[in-house]
Amino acid sequence: MSKIVMKFGGTSVADTDRILHVANIIKKKIDQNHKVAVVVSAMAGVTNDLIQKSKKISDDFPNDEYDALLSSGEQVTSTLLAGALQKLGIKARSWLGWQIPIVTEGDYKNSKIISVNSKVLNESMDQGIVPIIPGFQGLSEENRITTIGRGGSDASAVAIAKCLEADFCEIYTDVEGVYTTNPAIEPKAKKIEKISYEEMLEMATLGAKVMQSYSVQKAMINDVEIYVKSTFSNNSGTHIAAEDKISYDKVITGVAYSSDDAKVTLQGVKDKPGVASAIFKPLYENNIVVDMIVQNISADNQKTDITFTIKRDDLKKTKSVMDQLKNELEYDHLLTDDKVSKVSIVGAGMITHPGVAYKMFNALSSKKINIQVISTSEIKISVLVDEKNTKEAVQVIHNAFGLDK
Ligand code: ASP
Ligand code: MG
Repeated sequence: MSKIVMKFGGTSVADTDRILHVANIIKKKIDQNHKVAVVVSAMAGVTNDLIQKSKKISDDFPNDEYDALLSSGEQVTSTLLAGALQKLGIKARSWLGWQIPIVTEGDYKNSKIISVNSKVLNESMDQGIVPIIPGFQGLSEENRITTIGRGGSDASAVAIAKCLEADFCEIYTDVEGVYTTNPAIEPKAKKIEKISYEEMLEMATLGAKVMQSYSVQKAMINDVEIYVKSTFSNNSGTHIAAEDKISYDKVITGVAYSSDDAKVTLQGVKDKPGVASAIFKPLYENNIVVDMIVQNISADNQKTDITFTIKRDDLKKTKSVMDQLKNELEYDHLLTDDKVSKVSIVGAGMITHPGVAYKMFNALSSKKINIQVISTSEIKISVLVDEKNTKEAVQVIHNAFGLDK
């Protein structure tokens, strides 16, 4: 008998038929004598709808009411699923975030879970009553409803698994698991059987949409083992676990990409101490996350160029921040490009294999794809390319590393 947290995403509970189907998946686990707690997302599209509604009321909709509004999507699915289980003869009840409570800290819209009162959930399970918990919701110390960021019910499930000391957490979704790359752009992509937290974190951060990256980080810190699997098949899915539980037969594990980046270049910046700090301080103060950074070597020790990337949504703000720096920094030109995408390879296997960067760059060169910026970490290499080359770049790299085999 294991203790399991089962989490179902928005497409898995998209309508009442699917909720009835999910109830059957849970019943199977119960029939095998496992102890189960369930976490649900809102029905697919519902959270977006609620956001649209708040915008119709006001461009400046109050944050506290926004969270109370958005959390309602998960409340609906948790009650419907509890009802569906009871229909199958399984005892179940919904436990809203504030009833448990799941306590959060930090700002509305993006709160962080700091504790889950596992006692009530354990008692419920001990009595044979399956707790159905809405993901995404929390309660602040001020007794207000909070939400924990878009896609946050993954993180809810991980936090609950940790507090319940569950054996593992299952993330049920609409794909078979984590793939070597997005099968929509490379049909030869293969499902990954096992991946480390670190690799999964890179994949999720770099654009793989299967799991929210913050939730992977939480799982890694707390060593919560995860199985990502499909609600719509019986296949085994992807196991996310600590690196020492994985044997690497491939140099790289996956290829990820994102198409929501923008590139900013300051041309002709004075080459003197303090310049980089003068540029990045106001970015930090404006909450703009900087990703890749390159500074050219100045030929004459006088002037240099600095390029960095940010999220496309932050481009307008970044431009105005850089304009304000014009007098102080006396740079020549500000260039921006929002038609770029970042393509990355991820794999713990690259630590022990030489020539990985060469292989990646060579693959891109064979398709005459120009690399604009490069950044690396121990287990990833990212390149910035023209957005129109994204698909071809992903395919040629995927092929070069034999990920289709
Ligand atoms: N319903 C929330 C969202 O759409 C949370 C989640 O589904 O994970 O972002
Ligand atoms: Mg989701």
